[in-house]
Amino acid sequence: MGFRGLMLAPPGAGKGTQGKILCDRMEIAHLSTGEILRRHVANGTEYGQRAEAIMAAGELVPDDMVIAMVFERLDEMGAEAGFVLDGFPRTLNQAERLYERGLALGRLFDAVLYLDVDDDELVRRLLERGQQSGRSDDTIEIINSRLEVYRRETEPLEAFYDNRRILHRINGTGTVDEVAARIWNVVSAIHGD
Ligand code: AMP
Repeated sequence: MGFRGLMLAPPGAGKGTQGKILCDRMEIAHLSTGEILRRHVANGTEYGQRAEAIMAAGELVPDDMVIAMVFERLDEMGAEAGFVLDGFPRTLNQAERLYERGLALGRLFDAVLYLDVDDDELVRRLLERGQQSGRSDDTIEIINSRLEVYRRETEPLEAFYDNRRILHRINGTGTVDEVAARIWNVVSAIHGD
């Protein structure tokens, strides 16, 4: 049975980079709602048209839309597949719906990986990424509002998963390789790979 994990951390903490490294190493699917949404926007789909302005403002797109998107993907992957969710859930409502689905299928998460990075470093990384990739939501105003949205909507999920004893706090500072090694220590201890 594949490893099922999720990356929980503020924007700029390295969820995407580290999620991909972990998934390549374990040969499992990396499901990033941000990436899926950016693809919808680029392709001008109905989801994309609904999400574009919201994403550009650094707000969250409606729960029902992301929940439908993620559940579709999970259904396609089949019951035994391993995966890492990155950027989902981001609200308590999303987390509860995901938990209910997991309970119904008898398949809960193995681990929630929380990357710990302080705010100054998050802002520095996001500004740098904005310069390199041109992501339109990586400007200082939008970065600040995304961090605020994180504190308000997503931070409560830390307690939600901590209460279930599956939250692992990992130091997210240092080089990409250093952080990847810390994550691997945690995951290999849980999954026995
Ligand atoms: P990310 O690449 O994870 O930083 O996501 C980029 C943007 O996509 C976010 O700022 C939100 O506007 C939107 N988004 C991604 N995942 C979610 C989610 N789970 N719930 C709501 N909005 C999301």
